Amino acid sequence: MSESFGFQAEISQLLDLIINTFYSNKEIFLRELISNSSDALDKIRYASLTDPSVLDTEKELYIRITPDKENKILSIRDTGVGMTKADLVNNLGTIAKSGTKAFMEALNSGADVSMIGQFGVGFYSAYLVAERVQVITKHNDDEQYIWESAAGGTFTVTPDTVNPPIGRGTEIRLYLKEDQIEYIEEKKIKDIVKKHSEFISYPIQLVVTKEVEKEVEDEEVEEKPEGEESKIEEVEDEEDKPKDKKTKKVKETTTENEELNKTKPLWTRNPQDITADEYSSFYKSLTNDWEEHLAVKHFSVEGQLEFKAILYIPKRAPFDLFETKKKRNNIKLYVRRVFIMDDCEDIIPEYLNFVKGIVDSEDLPLNISRETLQQNKILKVIRKNIVKKCMELFSEIQEDKENFAKFIESFGKNIKLGIHEDAQNRSKLAEFLRFYSTKSTDEMTSFKDYITRMPEVQKSIYYLTGESLAATKDSPFLEVLKKKGFEVLLLVDPIDEYAITQLKEFDGKKLVCVTKEGLELEETEEEKATREQEIKEYEDLCKVIKESLGDKVEKVVVSNRITDSPCVLVTGQFGWSANMERIMKAQALRDSSMSSYMASKKTLELNPHNPIVKELKRKVASDPADKAVRDLTYLLFETALLTSGFVLDEPINFAKRIHRMISLGLDVDEEESAPAAAESNDDAPPPLEGAATSAMEEID
Ligand code: ADP
Ligand code: MG
Repeated sequence: MSESFGFQAEISQLLDLIINTFYSNKEIFLRELISNSSDALDKIRYASLTDPSVLDTEKELYIRITPDKENKILSIRDTGVGMTKADLVNNLGTIAKSGTKAFMEALNSGADVSMIGQFGVGFYSAYLVAERVQVITKHNDDEQYIWESAAGGTFTVTPDTVNPPIGRGTEIRLYLKEDQIEYIEEKKIKDIVKKHSEFISYPIQLVVTKEVEKEVEDEEVEEKPEGEESKIEEVEDEEDKPKDKKTKKVKETTTENEELNKTKPLWTRNPQDITADEYSSFYKSLTNDWEEHLAVKHFSVEGQLEFKAILYIPKRAPFDLFETKKKRNNIKLYVRRVFIMDDCEDIIPEYLNFVKGIVDSEDLPLNISRETLQQNKILKVIRKNIVKKCMELFSEIQEDKENFAKFIESFGKNIKLGIHEDAQNRSKLAEFLRFYSTKSTDEMTSFKDYITRMPEVQKSIYYLTGESLAATKDSPFLEVLKKKGFEVLLLVDPIDEYAITQLKEFDGKKLVCVTKEGLELEETEEEKATREQEIKEYEDLCKVIKESLGDKVEKVVVSNRITDSPCVLVTGQFGWSANMERIMKAQALRDSSMSSYMASKKTLELNPHNPIVKELKRKVASDPADKAVRDLTYLLFETALLTSGFVLDEPINFAKRIHRMISLGLDVDEEESAPAAAESNDDAPPPLEGAATSAMEEID
């Protein structure tokens, strides 16, 4: 007895949409049906783990595609769990899933029909190519039934009395639309299976028909009744045939099951049996990269949780590596050989977005949604393991100097981002950092190598940040350190400073920025004593200079880090360095509210051994109110800004002061020089006494 049911309203709407809208990507119907078969096979396989007798109804687990050219029927059959009558009614029509509506909304806002599987309504994609669908199914707990619908709002469920018993499982019969009969072609089917279902873990068989010539005795042929000869046609006897025996050659069409997914998924195979070529062609098929990978790691994790993975490092960074809006498809996620998604954001941290590969989990549910994935504990463990393996992979690359240089050139920024983001792996990642240094300007060096070169007295690792190698390698901040034989790392990538301030130390050694306040150089007792003496001697000069510079500087002190230059400007321990201030100023869209408290509080450090400073001290001692001292102080301050890596706030005024110095040097008549624009400048120093007075006045 046939029973009729109405599709739930949303499902009905979805069917209308699938049938009446033009989609170019119709071939995905096969992937969906195969994936359902694979799910059904998974279920019975899983059940058989605890009760092997469930397989008695059909031992072999497979998916079989049979094209019937004559009747334009494509059939997909599996020996999976099958469906009871209740399953048919509930799962194929009367109970809507939340995905039904969501998928229609997605379609309306431009989603591709190929996303149907993710919304849990993949079955209905059959109607992309079929005008009528039959589902013949047999579950161990029920009889064999036929579900049938040509859409139009209703379906029927009937006990199957017409088809031969299928044992267990499901056969989907697609009565193809007139314009979709291409899906009956063997080649087409093979292509689609290869493209979308290559990594299904059950054999996918295609029933192919072959014509073979067969020699039969004449009588035998003639014995066949007329009607049954449709598939056998007579062939002319060949001339050289022995005439004594009455035989005939006939062409016979036979069918054969051809397995389409013979290549076992690479990751399921033993790494020892896989050639380098196989890894590289798998990489290329995975990424569309035309070049080989730089490194690969194939591993499996067992125990509480099981998964297999292959991770690849490409040779170069894609042009859009840091394009944040780009859909991320670096790691393909499989669950038990069934492809789930290739843009799972939570499977690997963002800074590792250059790592490609696949992960195949044994534990995740097949029908996992993007939302639940985010919270999923299994995925969190997988992610942790992937990161760990990436670290191992980087270490392996590090063993080959040339390859590692390539790696750092392409992905060094990612490693630095990782140091910033990934507290757990920070110290491990730090091993992969490479910087130029005062002792290594041609080739970048690692912290490890730096440490091997440290003199015994040196306790910390020193670094200087700046815009370029040229701008840093002769910095006044390096003077004393160079003299002491202390190497200084030169950090010239804008991201360096972010990374290094997070890192704070390496191998128990503090990372010390040489442009910041409180630089404690390893000093001998003697050195300390001289410096204390100097601090006393220069107390007055420091005071006078601080007064004249006002709030442009926080403090004026005697320096322990310069031997040649007259002075430098250092910044507070926790504020921005000069380099950071430069980077921040360059970020046009940045919220400027931070600058006020992060902007460097500058300390002017004087070099007591520099002749200019000595002379200034002498002048102050003889006349504490000497105006010339205060003016020259301004020039010293501004040049210190430049040599210390800051940007001048008022370059024009600075230039004017310099020009006046040049005029003085050249004895240029003040009257002849073009009248300077009278601009107001509150910060300008008071007029110079003597020769330059009038010139200085002009900019007041
Ligand atoms: P999903 O696969 O995401 O659950 P589908 O629309 O593809 O969504 O399938 C709906 C349901 O129909 C499945 O969950 C399953 O219960 C049932 N089903 C579909 N195909 C088969 C099959 N070949 N064997 C057994 N059950 C099936
Ligand atoms: Mg499905």
